[in-house]
Amino acid sequence: MIEIKNLTKKFDQQEVLKDIDLKIEKGKVFVIIGPSGTGKSTLLRCINMLEKPDKGSIRLEDFEADFTNITKKQIQTLRSRTSMVFQNSNLYRNKTALENITTPLILVKKMNRTEAEKIGMELLNRVGMLEKKDSYPETLSGGERQRVGIARAMGMEPDIILFDEPTSALDPELVGEVLEVIKNLAAQHTTMLIVTHEMKFARNVADQIVFMEKGHIVEMAPPEEFFEHPKQERTRQFINRQV
Ligand code: ADP
Ligand code: MG
Repeated sequence: MIEIKNLTKKFDQQEVLKDIDLKIEKGKVFVIIGPSGTGKSTLLRCINMLEKPDKGSIRLEDFEADFTNITKKQIQTLRSRTSMVFQNSNLYRNKTALENITTPLILVKKMNRTEAEKIGMELLNRVGMLEKKDSYPETLSGGERQRVGIARAMGMEPDIILFDEPTSALDPELVGEVLEVIKNLAAQHTTMLIVTHEMKFARNVADQIVFMEKGHIVEMAPPEEFFEHPKQERTRQFINRQV
């Protein structure tokens, strides 16, 4: 379970996130949609402490931190218990697919090489990339790189995986394979918070759709209710523009 309360983030004078409250139960998939410039990425980055919120608190199971006086140790804990998957997988260019997964296992999780490689191969297998274990990122397609990035995030066994538009930098024909991997994770009850513009996927995979605009959560509901019976006029307008 992850619970965010009153999360507020300013850049200079501009309040980009305003008193965000969000509670994600273990094993659930929450999908954030909304116009660009709305604060979706900033919210994920705040959860992962890539940005420091100005106010609010976060709870992950037994761990709790107040952003206003968060300690270095708490930041470390938060980072190790949440994993981010970016638009561009940010793989190490000079490491193979397998090494991209084993390196954090060895450095952060303090595993020995044999152990890390065993887990690395299992993870590559789960994302359909075992055959490419010795390939370097530049020889992989965008979709393959994203799948390795997802396997790397899974390796850290985080409480939640945060996806920031994982398919928006991909050629259209590569989107499906990445969404498929995320769908499989959802079927195995991986807790995830996903920002995406892929409405059909959102509808398929989400337990809850979160519609954000201008730093606020406008509406949140299970997909069917959200798309078929939106409560807010603003949500209706947004949905209608997508089709
Ligand atoms: P979204 O992901 O919904 O498109 P973002 O979270 O990227 O939106 O951005 C929300 C707002 O915050 C935008 O107005 C953006 O320009 C601003 N912003 C994001 N990151 C920074 C930053 N590092 N410094 C200043 N402004 C930023
Ligand atoms: Mg964004």
